[in-house]
Amino acid sequence: MTESGNEETPPSRYHFLGRLRPRLRPHRGKLVWAVILIVVGTLIGLAFPLIVRELLDAAFEAGDRTMLNQIALFLAVLFLILAGVNFGQSYLTASVSERIVARLRKDVFGHLMSQPPGFFARRRVGELSSRLASDAGLIQGILRFGIPELVRQGLFLVGAIIILITVAHPRLTLITMVAIPPTVLAGWLLGRRVRRISTGIQDRLADAVSRADQVFTQITTVQSFIREGLEAERFATEVDATRDEGLRRAVARAFLTGTVTFTAFGAIALVLWEGGRLVLEGALTPGTLVAFLFYAFLIAGSVTSLAGFWGNFQEASGAARRIFGILDERVELREPDDPEPLPTPFRGRIRYDGVRFRYGPDLPEVLHGIDFEVAPGETVALVGASGAGKSTLAALLPRFYDVEGGAVEVDGVDVRRLRLAELRARIGLVPQEPMLFAGTVRENLLYGNLDATEEEMVRAAKAAHAHDFIVELPRGYDEKIGERGITLSAGQRQRMAIARVMLKAPTILILDEASSALDAESERLVQDALDRLMEGRTTLVIAHRLSTILRADRILVLDQGEIAARGRHMDLLDASELYARLYRRQFDDAMASSGRSGSEGAGASSEDPSSGSMDRSPSTRGSTPSSSQA
Ligand code: ADP
Repeated sequence: MTESGNEETPPSRYHFLGRLRPRLRPHRGKLVWAVILIVVGTLIGLAFPLIVRELLDAAFEAGDRTMLNQIALFLAVLFLILAGVNFGQSYLTASVSERIVARLRKDVFGHLMSQPPGFFARRRVGELSSRLASDAGLIQGILRFGIPELVRQGLFLVGAIIILITVAHPRLTLITMVAIPPTVLAGWLLGRRVRRISTGIQDRLADAVSRADQVFTQITTVQSFIREGLEAERFATEVDATRDEGLRRAVARAFLTGTVTFTAFGAIALVLWEGGRLVLEGALTPGTLVAFLFYAFLIAGSVTSLAGFWGNFQEASGAARRIFGILDERVELREPDDPEPLPTPFRGRIRYDGVRFRYGPDLPEVLHGIDFEVAPGETVALVGASGAGKSTLAALLPRFYDVEGGAVEVDGVDVRRLRLAELRARIGLVPQEPMLFAGTVRENLLYGNLDATEEEMVRAAKAAHAHDFIVELPRGYDEKIGERGITLSAGQRQRMAIARVMLKAPTILILDEASSALDAESERLVQDALDRLMEGRTTLVIAHRLSTILRADRILVLDQGEIAARGRHMDLLDASELYARLYRRQFDDAMASSGRSGSEGAGASSEDPSSGSMDRSPSTRGSTPSSSQA
């Protein structure tokens, strides 16, 4: 249950290069070629000023026309080669970085998919998505441009300095070198500041976007409370803050550019001045001075780009830390090392044996020793006040969470001993408010069984009373439904969800009954569909309907994480005061709402999920429920 402490991550440098190294290894061949091309490109770049010197001296000093032509031609050929080299290197690094980042994205997604629901409950889902998008993008940027540039400019700098010292004039070289330390220092200091501001901006923006996300999905809540203005203001505050931060960053950046420009060009001015004097004295040829200037410019360029690299590197290393942080999160549910095979034939017997559970190490225990069995084909209803632990209890069966004590068994095998996929393939889930994916009706139904034939799909849809409304849609099974199936009513969505589970054909069913009442006709269709679904399957149902508990083989009355009573309806009415009370409330509601006939569609967004529900908690109603009808 515990999160692996991703606060205590090792230093970023370790993370970035250390963690990427194994991912770079498969691309060794391409990387070696890329480095070779970079070296060749750098050598050409380094030779360029020397060739220019020859050219100029041929023109000015020797006045040799043929030599001038030859050198110019040579230069043209050299640039052609350089173009080819750059093309090859650019392609190679792009190819490697694209592949590495694609692999990384797939790995992160796959890792996230294997985390249990609790993992997502504890995190902002938008943040996880941005790991996949922007953080991976930052890493790609540094691999594609940052690191090749670092190698190129680093090599160039070293090479240029060596050439200047050996070939040209030592004192001029010294003047040029003087400009380097302040440039690097300014780049480093200001770069750090830019980066810090950038992180702040990103965080603020993430907050604003996350809020926007929530507002969009809950737009009816916002509009019904007429809080558009408040939300706009809130958003504006965040956006304004990022704008101000952005401006601060711009100032820091401008400062950085200004400082670097000044030191670099100041050095060039000095070189010109001193060099000019040396030419006048005849100690230097004009060609050498020009070549020198070229080097000075190129050195200034590479120092600037190296200074800028630091910030990008830090940014990418932060991104890498976050991404590898996700990959380092332990998968909270371990697959067994040597899983037991599922018993065949699988009967669907369920046993909870002294099950204890808590949602986290610091959270209170939610289930305190739950014991019960469900025989194959039986239906057991869970009832209890809201928060009693019904959903938690049900979630342990498909192993969305692991028990803290005791065991959950199917057909006599501890669920922790089974392969997750095998276990879950046998369990069908109909949630309270089924969500459908954006896509066609067909895609949503086949989610239950990708191999189902068209005929099987239609049969399931018919059995779930979904076929009739589906064929009435303009494009029938090919109709696209909205991101959350918003074009379908609550009842229709439920029937779709039932058909989807029918296609899956599980041995065990977990039903979480909708607690908001549909209109009578829709209710009847859903109920009938559920009855067909439950036929011959072991069913654990979180019951909100009177009809369900009346027909259940057994009822478990849950009270604050314990089974307070168990039995059939009539017996429980006498034996359990708690049950009698829950039942009376339900019955009152049933009587009260029997005249009501809300539309199916309205049920979709009922603001009162507990209406008509068994699990209304005592505190939400008067403390003296009427018992006259019971
Ligand atoms: P029921 O389904 O009977 O309404 P639940 O199983 O949802 O009850 O909740 C039982 C208890 O567990 C409640 O106190 C609830 O607050 C707590 N709980 C439920 N889900 C979580 C979760 N993801 N993290 C922490 N506590 C939870």
